Amino acid sequence: SIILAIESSCDETSVAVCNNGKITANVIANQTIHENYGGVIPELASRVHQQNIVPVIQQALTDAKVNKKELNAVAFTRGPGLLGSLLVGVSFAKSFALALDLPLIAVNHMHAHILAHFIDDPKPSFPFLCLTVSGGHTQIVLVKDYFDMEIVGETLDDAAGEAFDKTAKILNLPYPGGPLIDKHAQLGNPLAYKFPVPQIKDLDYSFSGFKTAILYFVRDNVKANPDFIAQHLEDICASVQHSIVQILLAKLKKAAQQYGIKEIAIAGGVSANSGLRAALKGMEAELGWRTYIPAFQYCTDNAAMIAIAGHYKFIEKDFVGQDVAPTSRMVF
Ligand code: ATP
Ligand code: MG
Ligand code: FE
Repeated sequence: SIILAIESSCDETSVAVCNNGKITANVIANQTIHENYGGVIPELASRVHQQNIVPVIQQALTDAKVNKKELNAVAFTRGPGLLGSLLVGVSFAKSFALALDLPLIAVNHMHAHILAHFIDDPKPSFPFLCLTVSGGHTQIVLVKDYFDMEIVGETLDDAAGEAFDKTAKILNLPYPGGPLIDKHAQLGNPLAYKFPVPQIKDLDYSFSGFKTAILYFVRDNVKANPDFIAQHLEDICASVQHSIVQILLAKLKKAAQQYGIKEIAIAGGVSANSGLRAALKGMEAELGWRTYIPAFQYCTDNAAMIAIAGHYKFIEKDFVGQDVAPTSRMVF
């Protein structure tokens, strides 16, 4: 089957094509308009999706070398995400499917981040644990089957991606700051500064106190030395990144012990972080884990992950009607 997939939940307009489970196109239009605002402005994001959607669809069909008449289904992100952004993708998917008389497949964006592991080999085997770390979520998920997943731990406030982005903002770096923190961290000392580890029970996380600690740390140091950030940027980034990675992996380790599972994956935008990737890999030998880390292009938002989720739903004939609507929050 040939499936066209649309992702528009946040600030990436992306379209992919999947042919019998193989990705043959994955076009991503990033929005740069939000850089100067320190975060995504929802109203602006929807407008740019509206401008990008048709050209991105056309580019994906060209890349995949398929005619739209050869398609067997249209998959789209139904949620969670920004409602105005989702509306653009969902409305386009519905019209496109209606015009071409194709079945519609609704995909949960958070399931798709995890199912990105089924794009390339090696693929994890069920059951596995997946730490999903992105701009809006931080979850430890017990994955029993393609669409049988259970959240066993999650953040009570900010997401790990937000911790990166807000730290970047405190350091006057543009949005999204995660990749920039990563870049500067590679040249710094991860043990230069120590930040408090949140004491949260069970398998849950919290990053709001951590963020405040960094705010006060930077503010106090800048008061004493106005050039503090410029002089120590690399050490600050390395130390913050190291702390976040330690917090994330401590609970993942606890979950692995609790569930007796050694198949361990990471997913979502923060799984592109070089510190997290290296630290997870390092735990393989120590704990006897088999770890799964997505290729970079499948960590942050992309439609290839929606397409692969659509592929597995197509097999089950799990279709939705034209009355489907996006939802900003979506039950797992
Ligand atoms: P969600 O998936 O929760 O709805 P989202 O779709 O906005 O949120 P993603 O695109 O999956 O999030 O991830 C974006 C996040 O990943 C941003 O917070 C960004 O800073 C972070 N990120 C991307 N690359 C890196 C990196 N190398 N290091 C740290 N963080 C990163
Ligand atoms: Mg984004
Ligand atoms: Fe995402």
